[in-house]
Amino acid sequence: MKKAVVIGSGFAGLAAACFMAKAGWNVTVLEKHSMPGGRARRFEAKGFTFDMGPSWYWMPDVFEHFFKSFGKKVDDYYELQRLDPSYRIYWDDNVPMDIPANYEALKALFETEEPGASAQLDAFMAEAAYKYQVGVQKLVYKPGQSLTEFIDLDLLKGLLRLDVFTSVRKHVHKFFKSKKLRQLLEFPVLFLGALPQDIPALYTLMNYADIKLGTWYPKGGMYKIAEGMHTLAIELGVNFCFNTNVTRIVLEGHIAVAVEATEQDKKMSFDADVIIGAADYHFVEQQLLPSTHRSYTEAYWNKRVMAPSCMLYYVGINKKLNNVLHHTLFFDVDFEMHGKEIYQAKQWPEEPLFYVSATSVTDDHAAPENCENLFFLIPVAAGLTGDDEKLRKEYFDIILKRFEQKTGESISDNIVYNKSYAVSDFVSDYNAYKGNAYGLANTLMQTAVLKPSLRSKKVSNLYYTGQLTVPGPGVPPSLISGEVVAAEINKKFKNT
Ligand SMILES: Cc1cc2nc3c(=O)[nH]c(=O)nc-3n(C[C@H](O)[C@H](O)[C@H](O)COP(=O)(O)OP(=O)(O)OC[C@H]3O[C@@H](n4cnc5c(N)ncnc54)[C@H](O)[C@@H]3O)c2cc1C
Repeated sequence: MKKAVVIGSGFAGLAAACFMAKAGWNVTVLEKHSMPGGRARRFEAKGFTFDMGPSWYWMPDVFEHFFKSFGKKVDDYYELQRLDPSYRIYWDDNVPMDIPANYEALKALFETEEPGASAQLDAFMAEAAYKYQVGVQKLVYKPGQSLTEFIDLDLLKGLLRLDVFTSVRKHVHKFFKSKKLRQLLEFPVLFLGALPQDIPALYTLMNYADIKLGTWYPKGGMYKIAEGMHTLAIELGVNFCFNTNVTRIVLEGHIAVAVEATEQDKKMSFDADVIIGAADYHFVEQQLLPSTHRSYTEAYWNKRVMAPSCMLYYVGINKKLNNVLHHTLFFDVDFEMHGKEIYQAKQWPEEPLFYVSATSVTDDHAAPENCENLFFLIPVAAGLTGDDEKLRKEYFDIILKRFEQKTGESISDNIVYNKSYAVSDFVSDYNAYKGNAYGLANTLMQTAVLKPSLRSKKVSNLYYTGQLTVPGPGVPPSLISGEVVAAEINKKFKNT
């Protein structure tokens, strides 16, 4: 059996490992942490269980597709629950808006905000549905190696309808006038690491994901997905080495022959016929390869538009909250200003937007009895420095005050656990380029063939997967990325 070594066990690495094992490879996954999941790891403290990264489960069809590829179903590994309301938004006028899971109820809400908006929503969603269908079936599973991949009659016929050359902002503004409705429909692309004015309107497919496919929660937390994929990988015969830090890719000419790693102080070497870099792309090529064998220069990387990093707080409180949903977005300050601070000025925000997830509202196991588990997230520019204790505390005080004010729930005297996590932690834990949380932004100039290639240009058997290559950031795209890279490798190695 030919040997494949996968560096990193985030969603992309796990997916790639499963598909490679299915294709008959002897697969070994090397992971620097003690558990799989990468940015979606979990930790427990004082009886609270925290998902460290993703908290929104969208595009359930992508997860179904993944498990079905192995003759399995999602519910063989974890149980999903649809959230209703899907989430709550606080605006600057203090009137919270709950987004119902039911489409007719959402249409009624739109109508109260803007007369005629419910019919407009139908028209908008018909376009979004088309984009989702074409996007998921015809675009996101492409390896992005050549433009010829996109020569497809349906794609060419639908090119105008896909709205690749207009922005999400322009598209949404064409349909709606209400500031709130516009922001509601623009926010999902923040998941793709770009501002609505900078991302092709094709990505309003995310509105279809949000509104029609719904917001779900895997009982037990988002980590259940990683756990399920890890279990599946073991069932398929994949070997895992945890606490194993990869330090070098060993080359013979233009072929990679082994991966060197350390487990505590022990040096190890793993022979490989093919290597999949599923850790951050920039790290794999800039740190594990000699400069002669890198596909891109440091200057190239420096010009990439990175998706944001985050300032995070994992907070446990010793009381139950009455007025908090599973997901709450605090859009009560200037959206534009914070966006500019992330992407243009690249500075710490003056007045941050933030998001709170309270998993214990849905899941009793996430916190001790009569307690609540809260996760606060402030998106910030990648590459920022100075996230010391003082700065972390300053931001926490700002958002805590707003949280208390908006929800009417006082929690400052009830905090029994509080851990922060910021840009420098993403660097030290994940070797994340500029401490990015979400990888590379999905701008038009960083789409498909314009993304860092999943195949090394200099090392013939080295491949990349994950949120810095195709198709982009987010849990579903990372799963897809793992599948796509495995397919590309198997195409090349078919006859060898
Ligand atoms: C705070 C936060 C919130 C998010 N929210 C959402 C959300 O709600 N919904 C959503 O869909 N997406 C969300 N995302 C994005 C999503 O989590 C990521 O896109 C996805 O998890 C990336 O997976 P990956 O496999 O590409 O990378 P990673 O998960 O980072 O995996 C890379 C792995 O490589 C390992 N590694 C690095 N260096 C080495 C080395 N030298 N040796 C061995 N191993 C190494 C790392 O430890 C890690 O396990 C969020 C991300 C963050 C950070």
